[in-house]
Amino acid sequence: MRSIITTKDVDVTYNFGKSNEFKALKGVTCEIASREYIIFFGPSGCGKSTLLYSIFGVLEPSAGEVMVKGDSIYKYEPMELVMYQRKTMGIMYQSFNLIPSLTVLDNVQLPLIFAGLPTTTRERTAMELLDRFGIAHVAHKRPGLLSGGQQQRVSVARSLVNDPEILIADEPVGNLDFVSAEAVMNTLEEINQNDKKTVLLVTHDAKYLPYAHRVFYLDYGKIDRIVPNPEKRQVIKVRPGETIVTEIEQLARIYPYDSPEQLRVKSLINFLTTNLSFDQIVRLEKMTQHVIEGVLSEEQFRAILVADYQTGGCGIKPKQADTMTKNMYQVLHQSEDIIRFRRVSRGQNTVDLAKLDLIKNIHEYMVKECQVEPDSKLLEKLTKMVTVRVYGYVTREEFHRQLRMSAGDGGAGFDIYLAADLSRYLEKLIAQGVSHFQQHQEAKPDSTSLHASQAKKFEEMDKGLLWKLTHLLHRDKTKAK
Ligand code: ADP
Repeated sequence: MRSIITTKDVDVTYNFGKSNEFKALKGVTCEIASREYIIFFGPSGCGKSTLLYSIFGVLEPSAGEVMVKGDSIYKYEPMELVMYQRKTMGIMYQSFNLIPSLTVLDNVQLPLIFAGLPTTTRERTAMELLDRFGIAHVAHKRPGLLSGGQQQRVSVARSLVNDPEILIADEPVGNLDFVSAEAVMNTLEEINQNDKKTVLLVTHDAKYLPYAHRVFYLDYGKIDRIVPNPEKRQVIKVRPGETIVTEIEQLARIYPYDSPEQLRVKSLINFLTTNLSFDQIVRLEKMTQHVIEGVLSEEQFRAILVADYQTGGCGIKPKQADTMTKNMYQVLHQSEDIIRFRRVSRGQNTVDLAKLDLIKNIHEYMVKECQVEPDSKLLEKLTKMVTVRVYGYVTREEFHRQLRMSAGDGGAGFDIYLAADLSRYLEKLIAQGVSHFQQHQEAKPDSTSLHASQAKKFEEMDKGLLWKLTHLLHRDKTKAK
């Protein structure tokens, strides 16, 4: 690999020789290739920013070396180091660091003033960038009048004005709302892909990891592991075993803060409790989200469960898929009663829970799933217990305790397994009984015609998946005929 950045055994010690001396980086060695998008990731305080700023040339390591484009940057003369920071590097900060008294245009062209360029060239270059990032119309405003997202786009423009080869960003979307954050992240990706800049980004937010070619996981001042992103075409050649091929590496992406030991535990627990792989579970989660959003009907959901994994399905055996679909929709439908109950109870009307289907459903669950037939006295008792739990007057633990308590003491007298089963089931209903789901229920999808808003949601879904889904449904219908 021809690396643009190399760090060799870098140590950074704050407050060296003082009582509060702190070693923030300990022997960090890494290589980054030109045009790579690298994310430094890890919990707060693990040394991400320290590593970023030592590469930026403003934090001299107490030991080791930082090489950029073949030069050991801390061996530069002071003026050479300044030129390196200006010409080779562009930087974006979490708090934008725009100068409030200057206009947006002046903020962006400021680095060019230092470069000694004539006014017209400076303004033209700065305006072109503002235009590119959709903020030319605010060029003459002061940054304080702009939204956070706009200010961060100004700072993207400023970081690029000198046409640097490397763009570094310290939690650049940490202060932004989700929509603005995504827009800025997409812009950085475009700068990496189209402008072919090397991007180094610091974040502690796992949802941004898919943007990177490689993720450097930091822990206590060290690079714990480097994981290439299998969904991105890599810049450097990845040796077999380096990419995400093992389940542990895959798990590390789902649970980025877990230690390798915790990941091994997760892998084994997964094996003991489900026959599905993590790939299948991740896809199943995605599909379940579409069900919750109301864009997948029962029939569509089942079709995807059984479809071959390679063609976009979950590759689950038909019998298991039937049970999963039945259970999923049962919980979702039954949780509608919780919504009704909450809506009425918020309006201060008393509602007789026994008249809702909830108790009937719980009764049915006990008979079918637990092979227990409660008598009318027990049902009455259960109705009361469920009511106070749904109201939130008692905790889950208290509800469970009441189920376990002997009939003589006013409990239901259930054994530990039945009590655990029933309590788990009710908690599922309560968890799903939020009005979000109910909104979608009002526009129930049918499998042949999609409601306009659902069709729009489908459009937003992965296009390949949509195609496969349509294909599956079409095939099923043709078969049915
Ligand atoms: P991160 O970016 O991962 O949150 P930092 O690189 O900012 O972590 O900091 C790493 C560690 O070094 C933290 O424990 C932090 O408290 C400490 N640290 C950072 N800057 C200084 C400083 N200027 N003086 C003393 N300690 C510092």
